[in-house]
Amino acid sequence: MRIRTTLTALLLTGCVRPVAVVTSEPAAGTAHADVRDLSGRLLGRLTLTPVAAGTGVRGTLEGLPPGPHALHIHTVGQCVPPFTTAGPHFNPENVRHGLATPHGGHAGDLPNVVAGPDGRAVVDVSARARLAGAAAVLDADGAAVVVHAAADDGLTDPAGNAGARLACGVITR
Ligand code: ZN
Repeated sequence: MRIRTTLTALLLTGCVRPVAVVTSEPAAGTAHADVRDLSGRLLGRLTLTPVAAGTGVRGTLEGLPPGPHALHIHTVGQCVPPFTTAGPHFNPENVRHGLATPHGGHAGDLPNVVAGPDGRAVVDVSARARLAGAAAVLDADGAAVVVHAAADDGLTDPAGNAGARLACGVITR
């Protein structure tokens, strides 16, 4: 009652006016993943955007060991070190892993990213997975982007022989 009375008073005195709400919402349909290492340090933000082939994944990661690293979309949106909480690769078609396989591997498979001597990796890749719609990555349990210690060999099931999970970011709208 008290709140209502106050609001009525404000309305009567003309103090309540429509206000333009400024937000930092991303463009429609995009998502992002803040990628953190095992110690919780932020390595960078990746932006995920619907593209014709599926989902584009772009951004810059810093603080990685130099060299190539596997990057995959994993099936659960939970990044608790050592990041096994993110589950396996996103794979709604239940096929074998690897971009070099005849069917193109898991929907969540991505090309390797390469960190330079300074530990910086510019990420500009895409996966077949889609952010929304049928069999999309953003289902009830979410999804995550995971960076691995080694390169993905593109063939070895189920994860390209890419080694430990170094960093992880929950995919968020
Ligand atoms: Zn895979």
